[in-house]
Amino acid sequence: MTCVITDACVDVKDRSCVNECPVDCIYEGDRALYINPDECIDCGACEAACPSNAVLFDIDVPEGQKSFQAVAVEWVAEHAAAGGATRRGVIGIDHSLVAGLPRKAES
Ligand code: SF4
Ligand code: SF4
Repeated sequence: MTCVITDACVDVKDRSCVNECPVDCIYEGDRALYINPDECIDCGACEAACPSNAVLFDIDVPEGQKSFQAVAVEWVAEHAAAGGATRRGVIGIDHSLVAGLPRKAES
């Protein structure tokens, strides 16, 4: 089991989760963050810290958000050598699914 960042993070990206992750396995793209499922120890700290409820345990991911599990796997394989957002900063590239989402209106 692992945690997954879903649609609610896109264009929000406040990084509260990054500061809480004990193993630095959350990576930062341009419009969203991504958890490396191979590095995640499933502690739940990011889930508790996210003000947008964007982080879900994988067993809790609803049908309409399940594609974000594959998004994380694919994005990490392509863009995230070990290091995490605290050391690597903004990688600046998103998975094509995230990049193709309409921009959320600024409030
Ligand atoms: S569940 Fe824990 S280890 Fe996994 S990404 Fe969240 S804070 Fe990091
Ligand atoms: S705390 Fe939630 S909304 Fe903020 S960057 Fe992390 S996953 Fe995204």
